[in-house]
Amino acid sequence: MNHPGFAFFEGKIIPIEQARIDIRTNALQYGTGIFEGIRCYWNEKNKTNYVFRIEDHYRRFILNSRIMMLDIKYSIEELCDITVELLRKEGYKEDSYVRPFAYNSGLNIGPKLVGNKQDLFIYTIPLGEYLDISKAINVCISSWDRIPDNSIPPRAKISGSYVNAAFQKTEALLNGYDEALVLTANGKHVSEGSAMNVFMVKNGNLITPPVTDDILEGITRDTVIKLAKDSENIDVIERSIDRTELYIADELFFCGTGAQISPIGNVDKRTIGNGEMGPLTKKLQQLYFRVVKNEISKYSDWCRKV
Ligand code: PMP
Repeated sequence: MNHPGFAFFEGKIIPIEQARIDIRTNALQYGTGIFEGIRCYWNEKNKTNYVFRIEDHYRRFILNSRIMMLDIKYSIEELCDITVELLRKEGYKEDSYVRPFAYNSGLNIGPKLVGNKQDLFIYTIPLGEYLDISKAINVCISSWDRIPDNSIPPRAKISGSYVNAAFQKTEALLNGYDEALVLTANGKHVSEGSAMNVFMVKNGNLITPPVTDDILEGITRDTVIKLAKDSENIDVIERSIDRTELYIADELFFCGTGAQISPIGNVDKRTIGNGEMGPLTKKLQQLYFRVVKNEISKYSDWCRKV
C-alpha cells in the first residue's frame, strides 16, 4: 500500500486522492488555517504504534481555534478517535506523523476570519528524522525576526505565519547551516527555532524562553520541562535569553514534535561546549525516545495505543 492511503475530509475518512480543495479556498489564498503536528512512534519490540500526547495536541488545537475564530465541531476525544482510526487504516510499521488542519474553506474573496465556510481535515504521513539528531547541528541566527504576537500570534500555529519560518529555514540552508535560531522583533531576545523550541544549559541550569517571547508553546518543550524535573531534579527556568548568551552556553538543543531532541554544535560559527552533543542533552534525548515509545510506564498516559 502507498502511504498515505486515507484522509479525514468533510466529515469522513476517504481515499486521500479524493480529498481535494477548490483553488478559490480562502485559507489557500490568505493562510487562514491552523494546524497541528503529532508524532506516532512504531515500537518494534511489541509491534505497536503509539501516538504521543495526542490529547494535548488537540487541546492546543481547540484553544488556538478561538484565536482564529475557527469553529471546530469535534471534541478532543472525537478528534483522537478519528486520528486513531486513520492510523489503523494506514497500518504503519514505521514512525509516522499526523497533520490536522482547520481552515476557512469558503470561496469568498477577502482576508477575514468570519463569514466563511469552515472545515477540518486530517491526514498522516510516514516520517523519520526531520533533523539529523545523531550529531550536533550547525545553526545561524536568522536575519528574519519572529512575527510578534500582535501581528500574527506564533502561539496559534497559523498556517499563513509559517511563511516567516520558511524565510528563516531557507536562509539557513542556503548559507550552509542546518537550521535557524530566531529572535523576537528587532532582535530583542531569542525566541525559538524556525519550527522548534530551544533550550540552553548554563552552569547546571536549564533555561528556555518564556511563552511571552513569541514562541509556540510546544508540547515537546513541556515534555522536556517535566522530564528534566523528574529525572534530573532540575527546575527549568523560563526567562528571556539574549543572542550572545547562546554563544557562551554550555549546551544548546532544539526540541519539537518534528525535531525531537536535536543538539546544537555551534551558533554563528561559535562552538557550543566542545561542539558535540552535551551530557544533559544526551540524557534527555535518550529518555525522550524511551518515553515516546511507551517504554516507561510512568509516562504511559502520554502514549495512545493505535
Ligand atoms: N515552535 C514552532 C514555530 C513550531 O512550528 C513547532 C512545531 N510544532 C514547535 C515550536 C514545537 O512544538 P511541539 O513540541 O508542540 O511540536
